[in-house]
Amino acid sequence: MENSAVDAPHPKKEGSAVNPYTMACEQFDCAARYMPELKRGLIEDLKHPRRIVRVEFPLETDNGSVTTVTGYRVLHNRARGPGKGGIRFHPRTDEDEVRALAMWMTWKCAVLDLPFGGAKGGVTCDPKQLTEGELRRITRRYILELGDNIGPYTDVPAPDVNSDAKTMAWVFDTYDMMHPGDSNLAVVTGKPVDIGGSLGRLGATARGCLMVTRRLIEKGLLPGARSLEGLSVAIQGFGKVGREAAQLFADAGARIIAVSDSESAIYARGGLDIGAVASHKRQTGKVAGLADTMTLTNDELLGLECDILMPAALQGQITAQNATQIKARMVVEAANGPITPAADRILAQRGIPVVPDILANAGGVTVSYFEWVQNIEHDNWSEDLVDRRLAERMHSATDAVVARRAEINANLKSLSQAPCKVPGLESESKDGLPPADLRIAAYVLAIHRVATVTMERGIWP
Ligand code: GLU
Repeated sequence: MENSAVDAPHPKKEGSAVNPYTMACEQFDCAARYMPELKRGLIEDLKHPRRIVRVEFPLETDNGSVTTVTGYRVLHNRARGPGKGGIRFHPRTDEDEVRALAMWMTWKCAVLDLPFGGAKGGVTCDPKQLTEGELRRITRRYILELGDNIGPYTDVPAPDVNSDAKTMAWVFDTYDMMHPGDSNLAVVTGKPVDIGGSLGRLGATARGCLMVTRRLIEKGLLPGARSLEGLSVAIQGFGKVGREAAQLFADAGARIIAVSDSESAIYARGGLDIGAVASHKRQTGKVAGLADTMTLTNDELLGLECDILMPAALQGQITAQNATQIKARMVVEAANGPITPAADRILAQRGIPVVPDILANAGGVTVSYFEWVQNIEHDNWSEDLVDRRLAERMHSATDAVVARRAEINANLKSLSQAPCKVPGLESESKDGLPPADLRIAAYVLAIHRVATVTMERGIWP
Protein backbone atom coordinates (compact mmCIF):
# COMPACT_ATOMS: atom_id res chain seq x y z
CA MET A 1 0.00 0.00 0.00
CA GLU A 2 1.34 3.39 -0.97
CA ASN A 3 0.17 5.16 2.18
CA SER A 4 -1.43 4.04 5.41
CA ALA A 5 -5.08 4.88 5.79
CA VAL A 6 -5.57 7.05 8.84
CA ASP A 7 -9.22 7.20 9.77
CA ALA A 8 -9.28 10.89 10.54
CA PRO A 9 -12.18 13.32 10.21
CA HIS A 10 -12.63 14.00 6.54
CA PRO A 11 -15.71 16.13 5.90
CA LYS A 12 -16.63 16.27 2.24
CA LYS A 13 -19.15 19.12 2.09
CA GLU A 14 -18.68 21.10 -1.15
CA GLY A 15 -17.25 24.49 -0.26
CA SER A 16 -15.86 23.31 3.08
CA ALA A 17 -12.18 24.10 3.61
CA VAL A 18 -11.25 20.44 3.78
CA ASN A 19 -13.04 19.31 0.64
CA PRO A 20 -9.93 18.17 -1.26
CA TYR A 21 -11.04 19.71 -4.56
CA THR A 22 -11.80 23.05 -2.91
CA MET A 23 -8.38 22.80 -1.27
CA ALA A 24 -6.64 22.09 -4.57
CA CYS A 25 -8.40 25.02 -6.28
CA GLU A 26 -7.58 27.37 -3.40
CA GLN A 27 -3.91 26.41 -3.54
CA PHE A 28 -3.92 27.01 -7.29
CA ASP A 29 -5.65 30.42 -6.98
CA CYS A 30 -3.27 31.48 -4.26
CA ALA A 31 -0.27 30.78 -6.54
CA ALA A 32 -1.94 32.27 -9.63
CA ARG A 33 -1.96 35.68 -7.89
CA TYR A 34 1.84 35.64 -8.27
CA MET A 35 1.53 35.06 -12.03
CA PRO A 36 0.09 38.24 -13.56
CA GLU A 37 1.42 37.14 -16.95
CA LEU A 38 -1.15 34.31 -17.13
CA LYS A 39 -4.02 34.83 -19.53
CA ARG A 40 -7.21 35.51 -17.57
CA GLY A 41 -9.31 32.61 -18.91
CA LEU A 42 -6.40 30.19 -18.81
CA ILE A 43 -6.26 30.51 -15.01
CA GLU A 44 -9.77 29.06 -14.75
CA ASP A 45 -9.22 26.53 -17.50
CA LEU A 46 -6.11 24.99 -15.96
CA LYS A 47 -8.12 23.96 -12.92
CA HIS A 48 -10.60 21.95 -14.94
CA PRO A 49 -10.04 18.23 -15.50
CA ARG A 50 -10.04 17.23 -19.14
CA ARG A 51 -12.01 14.06 -18.46
CA ILE A 52 -13.90 12.46 -15.59
CA VAL A 53 -14.88 8.82 -16.00
CA ARG A 54 -17.24 7.26 -13.50
CA VAL A 55 -17.97 3.55 -13.66
CA GLU A 56 -20.40 1.38 -11.72
CA PHE A 57 -20.25 -2.38 -11.80
CA PRO A 58 -21.45 -5.42 -9.86
CA LEU A 59 -19.22 -7.41 -7.53
CA GLU A 60 -20.16 -10.94 -6.59
CA THR A 61 -18.86 -11.28 -3.03
CA ASP A 62 -17.42 -14.48 -1.58
CA ASN A 63 -20.67 -15.14 0.30
CA GLY A 64 -22.62 -15.12 -2.97
CA SER A 65 -24.35 -11.74 -2.65
CA VAL A 66 -24.06 -8.99 -5.26
CA THR A 67 -23.12 -5.39 -4.55
CA THR A 68 -22.55 -2.36 -6.78
CA VAL A 69 -19.12 -0.73 -6.75
CA THR A 70 -18.32 2.81 -7.97
CA GLY A 71 -14.96 3.83 -9.42
CA TYR A 72 -13.49 6.97 -10.97
CA ARG A 73 -10.60 7.93 -13.21
CA VAL A 74 -9.91 11.62 -13.66
CA LEU A 75 -7.50 12.91 -16.28
CA HIS A 76 -6.72 16.41 -15.14
CA ASN A 77 -4.26 17.54 -17.80
CA ARG A 78 -2.18 16.00 -20.58
CA ALA A 79 -0.49 19.06 -22.08
CA ARG A 80 2.99 17.80 -21.09
CA GLY A 81 2.38 14.08 -21.69
CA PRO A 82 0.11 11.14 -20.82
CA GLY A 83 -1.88 11.29 -17.60
CA LYS A 84 -0.08 9.79 -14.60
CA GLY A 85 -1.30 8.92 -11.14
CA GLY A 86 -2.24 6.16 -8.74
CA ILE A 87 -5.39 4.19 -8.05
CA ARG A 88 -6.69 4.24 -4.49
CA PHE A 89 -9.19 2.02 -2.74
CA HIS A 90 -10.87 3.73 0.18
CA PRO A 91 -14.40 3.83 1.63
CA ARG A 92 -14.47 7.66 1.55
CA THR A 93 -13.08 8.09 -1.96
CA ASP A 94 -15.39 10.15 -4.16
CA GLU A 95 -15.28 12.26 -7.31
CA ASP A 96 -14.05 15.44 -5.59
CA GLU A 97 -11.21 13.61 -3.93
CA VAL A 98 -10.09 12.01 -7.19
CA ARG A 99 -10.39 15.34 -9.04
CA ALA A 100 -8.14 16.99 -6.44
CA LEU A 101 -5.60 14.19 -6.49
CA ALA A 102 -5.49 14.27 -10.30
CA MET A 103 -4.82 18.01 -10.27
CA TRP A 104 -2.05 17.59 -7.69
CA MET A 105 -0.45 14.98 -10.00
CA THR A 106 -0.32 17.53 -12.84
CA TRP A 107 1.64 19.99 -10.70
CA LYS A 108 3.79 17.26 -9.15
CA CYS A 109 4.89 15.91 -12.54
CA ALA A 110 5.56 19.46 -13.74
CA VAL A 111 7.65 20.39 -10.66
CA LEU A 112 9.81 17.31 -11.32
CA ASP A 113 9.84 18.16 -15.03
CA LEU A 114 8.53 14.69 -15.94
CA PRO A 115 6.91 14.35 -19.37
CA PHE A 116 3.54 13.48 -17.88
CA GLY A 117 0.27 15.18 -17.16
CA GLY A 118 -1.84 14.42 -14.11
CA ALA A 119 -4.49 11.80 -13.42
CA LYS A 120 -5.87 9.72 -10.56
CA GLY A 121 -8.16 6.78 -10.01
CA GLY A 122 -10.26 5.78 -7.05
CA VAL A 123 -12.62 2.98 -6.16
CA THR A 124 -15.04 3.50 -3.28
CA CYS A 125 -14.63 0.35 -1.19
CA ASP A 126 -13.09 -0.75 2.08
CA PRO A 127 -10.19 -3.12 1.44
CA LYS A 128 -10.16 -4.02 5.16
CA GLN A 129 -13.57 -5.65 4.67
CA LEU A 130 -12.72 -7.40 1.39
CA THR A 131 -11.02 -10.72 0.71
CA GLU A 132 -8.10 -10.78 -1.70
CA GLY A 133 -10.30 -12.47 -4.30
CA GLU A 134 -12.93 -9.72 -4.01
CA LEU A 135 -10.30 -6.98 -4.35
CA ARG A 136 -8.85 -8.74 -7.41
CA ARG A 137 -12.29 -8.97 -9.05
CA ILE A 138 -12.98 -5.29 -8.28
CA THR A 139 -9.62 -4.28 -9.78
CA ARG A 140 -10.07 -6.33 -12.95
CA ARG A 141 -13.63 -5.16 -13.56
CA TYR A 142 -12.68 -1.53 -12.86
CA ILE A 143 -9.88 -1.72 -15.45
CA LEU A 144 -12.20 -3.40 -17.94
CA GLU A 145 -14.78 -0.63 -17.45
CA LEU A 146 -12.14 2.09 -17.93
CA GLY A 147 -11.30 0.53 -21.30
CA ASP A 148 -9.04 2.72 -23.44
CA ASN A 149 -9.27 5.64 -21.04
CA ILE A 150 -5.97 4.24 -19.76
CA GLY A 151 -3.02 3.17 -21.92
CA PRO A 152 0.78 3.50 -22.13
CA TYR A 153 0.49 6.83 -24.02
CA THR A 154 -2.91 7.92 -22.68
CA ASP A 155 -3.00 7.65 -18.92
CA VAL A 156 -0.72 5.45 -16.81
CA PRO A 157 -1.92 4.26 -13.35
CA ALA A 158 0.24 3.32 -10.35
CA PRO A 159 -0.17 2.41 -6.65
CA ASP A 160 -1.74 4.79 -4.14
CA VAL A 161 -3.56 4.35 -0.82
CA ASN A 162 -4.45 0.66 -0.28
CA SER A 163 -3.00 -0.55 -3.58
CA ASP A 164 0.40 -2.08 -4.22
CA ALA A 165 2.54 -4.06 -6.65
CA LYS A 166 0.16 -7.02 -6.51
CA THR A 167 -2.75 -4.77 -7.51
CA MET A 168 -0.66 -3.33 -10.36
CA ALA A 169 0.04 -6.88 -11.61
CA TRP A 170 -3.75 -7.40 -11.89
CA VAL A 171 -4.11 -4.05 -13.67
CA PHE A 172 -1.41 -5.01 -16.16
CA ASP A 173 -2.78 -8.50 -16.70
CA THR A 174 -6.32 -7.24 -17.32
CA TYR A 175 -5.19 -4.57 -19.79
CA ASP A 176 -2.88 -7.09 -21.49
CA MET A 177 -5.79 -9.52 -21.93
CA MET A 178 -7.78 -6.67 -23.51
CA HIS A 179 -4.93 -5.78 -25.92
CA PRO A 180 -3.34 -9.09 -26.98
CA GLY A 181 -0.35 -8.82 -29.27
CA ASP A 182 0.66 -5.36 -28.07
CA SER A 183 3.60 -4.56 -25.81
CA ASN A 184 1.63 -3.39 -22.79
CA LEU A 185 4.06 -3.24 -19.85
CA ALA A 186 4.12 0.57 -19.83
CA VAL A 187 0.36 0.80 -19.17
CA VAL A 188 0.94 0.78 -15.41
CA THR A 189 3.87 1.42 -13.04
CA GLY A 190 4.68 0.13 -9.57
CA LYS A 191 4.47 -3.45 -10.88
CA PRO A 192 6.33 -6.37 -9.29
CA VAL A 193 9.97 -6.33 -10.42
CA ASP A 194 9.60 -9.65 -12.30
CA ILE A 195 6.72 -8.18 -14.36
CA GLY A 196 8.60 -5.10 -15.53
CA GLY A 197 8.57 -3.16 -12.27
CA SER A 198 11.55 -0.95 -11.52
CA LEU A 199 14.06 -1.68 -8.82
CA GLY A 200 13.79 1.06 -6.21
CA ARG A 201 10.10 1.88 -6.88
CA LEU A 202 8.85 0.46 -3.59
CA GLY A 203 10.64 2.87 -1.27
CA ALA A 204 10.89 5.72 -3.79
CA THR A 205 8.36 8.09 -2.19
CA ALA A 206 10.10 7.90 1.19
CA ARG A 207 13.58 8.17 -0.38
CA GLY A 208 12.51 11.22 -2.33
CA CYS A 209 11.15 12.74 0.89
CA LEU A 210 14.50 12.20 2.57
CA MET A 211 16.41 13.71 -0.36
CA VAL A 212 14.25 16.85 -0.47
CA THR A 213 14.23 17.36 3.31
CA ARG A 214 17.98 16.90 3.56
CA ARG A 215 18.60 19.30 0.68
CA LEU A 216 16.40 21.99 2.22
CA ILE A 217 18.04 21.61 5.62
CA GLU A 218 21.46 21.91 3.98
CA LYS A 219 20.19 25.12 2.39
CA GLY A 220 19.30 26.49 5.83
CA LEU A 221 15.53 25.90 6.09
CA LEU A 222 15.87 25.03 9.81
CA PRO A 223 17.97 27.65 11.59
CA GLY A 224 20.84 26.03 13.46
CA ALA A 225 20.61 22.69 11.62
CA ARG A 226 22.80 21.66 8.70
CA SER A 227 21.99 17.93 8.62
CA LEU A 228 19.39 15.46 9.87
CA GLU A 229 21.77 14.23 12.59
CA GLY A 230 20.03 14.38 15.96
CA LEU A 231 16.81 16.03 14.69
CA SER A 232 13.56 14.72 16.20
CA VAL A 233 10.88 13.50 13.79
CA ALA A 234 7.19 12.62 14.32
CA ILE A 235 5.51 10.67 11.52
CA GLN A 236 1.77 10.33 11.11
CA GLY A 237 1.20 7.02 9.35
CA PHE A 238 3.09 3.75 9.30
CA GLY A 239 2.13 2.44 5.87
CA LYS A 240 4.59 2.03 3.05
CA VAL A 241 5.63 5.67 2.99
CA GLY A 242 5.61 6.35 6.75
CA ARG A 243 7.38 3.12 7.70
CA GLU A 244 10.05 3.46 5.03
CA ALA A 245 10.57 7.16 5.82
CA ALA A 246 10.93 6.33 9.53
CA GLN A 247 13.68 3.84 8.73
CA LEU A 248 15.47 6.12 6.25
CA PHE A 249 15.39 9.18 8.52
CA ALA A 250 16.61 7.04 11.45
CA ASP A 251 19.44 5.67 9.26
CA ALA A 252 20.34 9.29 8.42
CA GLY A 253 20.82 10.03 12.14
CA ALA A 254 17.41 11.49 13.04
CA ARG A 255 15.47 10.41 16.15
CA ILE A 256 11.98 9.12 15.31
CA ILE A 257 10.01 10.03 18.42
CA ALA A 258 6.52 9.00 17.22
CA VAL A 259 4.67 7.08 14.52
CA SER A 260 0.99 6.19 14.16
CA ASP A 261 -1.51 4.02 12.33
CA SER A 262 -5.25 4.46 11.83
CA GLU A 263 -5.96 3.62 15.50
CA SER A 264 -3.36 5.47 17.53
CA ALA A 265 0.20 6.74 17.85
CA ILE A 266 3.20 5.61 19.89
CA TYR A 267 5.78 7.91 21.39
CA ALA A 268 9.24 7.55 22.90
CA ARG A 269 11.19 10.74 23.60
CA GLY A 270 14.54 8.95 23.23
CA GLY A 271 13.58 7.57 19.81
CA LEU A 272 11.77 4.45 18.54
CA ASP A 273 13.46 1.32 17.24
CA ILE A 274 11.77 1.23 13.82
CA GLY A 275 12.56 -2.45 13.26
CA ALA A 276 10.85 -3.28 16.57
CA VAL A 277 7.79 -1.13 15.66
CA ALA A 278 7.52 -2.87 12.27
CA SER A 279 7.65 -6.37 13.75
CA HIS A 280 5.18 -5.43 16.52
CA LYS A 281 2.81 -4.05 13.86
CA ARG A 282 3.23 -7.23 11.79
CA GLN A 283 2.46 -9.45 14.78
CA THR A 284 -0.41 -7.51 16.38
CA GLY A 285 -1.79 -5.47 13.47
CA LYS A 286 -1.20 -2.17 15.31
CA VAL A 287 1.60 0.05 16.55
CA ALA A 288 0.08 0.55 20.04
CA GLY A 289 1.34 -1.64 22.84
CA LEU A 290 5.04 -1.76 21.95
CA ALA A 291 7.13 -2.00 25.12
CA ASP A 292 8.64 1.24 26.46
CA THR A 293 6.38 3.48 24.37
CA MET A 294 3.53 5.76 25.36
CA THR A 295 0.24 5.53 23.43
CA LEU A 296 -1.12 8.81 22.05
CA THR A 297 -3.95 9.79 19.73
CA ASN A 298 -3.20 10.84 16.14
CA ASP A 299 -4.07 14.41 17.09
CA GLU A 300 -1.63 14.34 20.02
CA LEU A 301 1.08 13.13 17.63
CA LEU A 302 0.44 16.14 15.37
CA GLY A 303 0.92 18.46 18.37
CA LEU A 304 4.23 16.97 19.56
CA GLU A 305 7.25 19.18 20.08
CA CYS A 306 9.74 18.07 17.41
CA ASP A 307 11.99 19.35 14.63
CA ILE A 308 10.15 17.68 11.74
CA LEU A 309 6.51 16.65 11.53
CA MET A 310 5.72 14.38 8.62
CA PRO A 311 2.06 13.65 7.82
CA ALA A 312 2.27 10.45 5.74
CA ALA A 313 -1.37 9.35 5.74
CA LEU A 314 -4.41 11.00 4.14
CA GLN A 315 -5.43 14.54 3.17
CA GLY A 316 -7.01 17.13 5.45
CA GLN A 317 -5.14 16.21 8.66
CA ILE A 318 -3.81 19.65 9.69
CA THR A 319 -6.72 22.06 9.63
CA ALA A 320 -7.60 25.50 11.01
CA GLN A 321 -8.71 23.64 14.18
CA ASN A 322 -5.37 22.04 15.06
CA ALA A 323 -2.78 24.18 13.18
CA THR A 324 -2.31 26.44 16.21
CA GLN A 325 -1.30 23.36 18.21
CA ILE A 326 1.54 22.31 15.88
CA LYS A 327 4.85 22.61 17.73
CA ALA A 328 7.11 21.19 14.99
CA ARG A 329 9.79 23.45 13.50
CA MET A 330 8.95 22.31 9.97
CA VAL A 331 6.33 20.10 8.28
CA VAL A 332 7.07 17.73 5.39
CA GLU A 333 4.01 16.61 3.41
CA ALA A 334 4.70 12.95 2.63
CA ALA A 335 0.95 12.42 2.01
CA ASN A 336 -1.08 14.23 -0.65
CA GLY A 337 -2.91 17.29 0.68
CA PRO A 338 -2.48 16.77 4.44
CA ILE A 339 -2.61 20.54 5.22
CA THR A 340 -5.66 22.63 4.39
CA PRO A 341 -5.12 26.15 2.96
CA ALA A 342 -6.43 27.76 6.18
CA ALA A 343 -3.94 25.70 8.20
CA ASP A 344 -1.23 26.63 5.72
CA ARG A 345 -1.83 30.32 6.41
CA ILE A 346 -1.70 29.74 10.18
CA LEU A 347 1.59 27.81 9.89
CA ALA A 348 3.04 30.56 7.67
CA GLN A 349 2.06 33.24 10.21
CA ARG A 350 3.72 31.16 12.93
CA GLY A 351 6.91 30.87 10.86
CA ILE A 352 6.69 27.07 10.43
CA PRO A 353 7.92 26.16 6.94
CA VAL A 354 6.02 23.51 4.97
CA VAL A 355 7.63 21.30 2.31
CA PRO A 356 4.70 20.87 -0.10
CA ASP A 357 3.45 17.46 -1.23
CA ILE A 358 3.99 18.17 -4.93
CA LEU A 359 7.72 18.28 -4.16
CA ALA A 360 8.12 16.25 -0.96
CA ASN A 361 6.37 13.07 -2.08
CA ALA A 362 7.27 13.19 -5.78
CA GLY A 363 9.88 10.40 -5.49
CA GLY A 364 7.23 7.77 -6.18
CA VAL A 365 6.05 9.17 -9.49
CA THR A 366 9.63 9.95 -10.48
CA VAL A 367 10.64 6.30 -10.22
CA SER A 368 7.33 5.44 -11.92
CA TYR A 369 8.59 7.54 -14.82
CA PHE A 370 11.87 5.57 -14.77
CA GLU A 371 9.84 2.34 -14.85
CA TRP A 372 7.81 3.58 -17.83
CA VAL A 373 11.01 4.50 -19.70
CA GLN A 374 12.57 1.09 -18.94
CA ASN A 375 9.40 -0.69 -20.15
CA ILE A 376 9.31 1.26 -23.41
CA GLU A 377 13.03 0.68 -24.01
CA HIS A 378 12.92 -2.97 -22.85
CA ASP A 379 15.66 -2.17 -20.37
CA ASN A 380 16.42 -2.85 -16.67
CA TRP A 381 18.29 -0.28 -14.63
CA SER A 382 20.27 -1.19 -11.52
CA GLU A 383 18.96 0.05 -8.18
CA ASP A 384 22.02 2.21 -7.93
CA LEU A 385 21.28 3.92 -11.25
CA VAL A 386 17.64 4.46 -10.24
CA ASP A 387 18.75 6.00 -6.97
CA ARG A 388 21.29 8.30 -8.60
CA ARG A 389 18.76 9.52 -11.16
CA LEU A 390 16.14 9.97 -8.45
CA ALA A 391 18.56 12.09 -6.40
CA GLU A 392 19.38 14.21 -9.47
CA ARG A 393 15.69 14.87 -10.16
CA MET A 394 14.73 15.52 -6.52
CA HIS A 395 17.66 17.84 -5.93
CA SER A 396 17.20 19.87 -9.08
CA ALA A 397 13.45 20.21 -8.43
CA THR A 398 14.18 21.35 -4.85
CA ASP A 399 16.74 23.86 -6.09
CA ALA A 400 14.32 25.13 -8.75
CA VAL A 401 11.58 25.66 -6.15
CA VAL A 402 13.93 27.51 -3.79
CA ALA A 403 15.23 29.66 -6.67
CA ARG A 404 11.69 30.43 -7.81
CA ARG A 405 10.74 31.49 -4.28
CA ALA A 406 13.72 33.87 -4.16
CA GLU A 407 12.81 35.29 -7.58
CA ILE A 408 9.16 35.86 -6.64
CA ASN A 409 10.08 37.50 -3.35
CA ALA A 410 12.64 39.76 -5.03
CA ASN A 411 9.83 41.00 -7.32
CA LEU A 412 7.07 41.04 -4.73
CA LYS A 413 6.44 44.75 -5.01
CA SER A 414 5.89 44.78 -8.76
CA LEU A 415 3.88 41.53 -8.59
CA SER A 416 1.65 43.13 -5.94
CA GLN A 417 1.04 46.14 -8.17
CA ALA A 418 0.00 44.08 -11.20
CA PRO A 419 -3.78 43.69 -11.54
CA CYS A 420 -4.97 40.38 -10.05
CA LYS A 421 -6.64 38.20 -12.68
CA VAL A 422 -7.89 35.47 -10.37
CA PRO A 423 -11.71 35.69 -10.28
CA GLY A 424 -12.91 36.51 -6.78
CA LEU A 425 -9.50 37.47 -5.38
CA GLU A 426 -9.17 40.92 -6.97
CA SER A 427 -9.99 42.87 -3.79
CA GLU A 428 -7.67 40.83 -1.52
CA SER A 429 -4.69 41.75 -3.67
CA LYS A 430 -4.96 45.43 -2.83
CA ASP A 431 -3.14 44.83 0.47
CA GLY A 432 -0.13 43.46 -1.40
CA LEU A 433 0.96 39.88 -1.71
CA PRO A 434 2.54 38.10 1.25
CA PRO A 435 6.02 36.66 0.58
CA ALA A 436 5.85 33.36 -1.29
CA ASP A 437 6.44 30.14 0.65
CA LEU A 438 7.68 26.86 -0.81
CA ARG A 439 4.18 25.74 -1.82
CA ILE A 440 3.49 28.93 -3.75
CA ALA A 441 6.91 28.71 -5.40
CA ALA A 442 6.35 25.06 -6.40
CA TYR A 443 2.90 25.87 -7.81
CA VAL A 444 4.19 28.88 -9.73
CA LEU A 445 6.96 26.74 -11.24
CA ALA A 446 4.52 23.97 -12.17
CA ILE A 447 1.70 26.18 -13.47
CA HIS A 448 4.20 28.16 -15.53
CA ARG A 449 5.49 24.95 -17.16
CA VAL A 450 2.00 23.65 -17.96
CA ALA A 451 0.73 27.05 -19.14
CA THR A 452 3.76 27.57 -21.40
CA VAL A 453 3.28 24.21 -23.12
CA THR A 454 -0.45 24.83 -23.44
CA MET A 455 0.14 28.14 -25.23
CA GLU A 456 3.02 26.78 -27.35
CA ARG A 457 0.86 23.92 -28.56
CA GLY A 458 -1.98 26.37 -29.15
CA ILE A 459 -5.59 25.90 -28.19
CA TRP A 460 -7.28 23.65 -30.69
CA PRO A 461 -9.20 24.21 -32.96
N1 GLU B 1 0.30 7.60 -5.96
C1 GLU B 1 1.60 8.21 -6.00
C2 GLU B 1 1.47 9.71 -5.90
O1 GLU B 1 0.50 10.23 -5.41
C3 GLU B 1 2.42 7.74 -7.19
C4 GLU B 1 1.82 8.02 -8.53
C5 GLU B 1 2.58 7.38 -9.69
O2 GLU B 1 3.59 6.74 -9.46
O3 GLU B 1 2.10 7.54 -10.81
O4 GLU B 1 2.38 10.44 -6.23
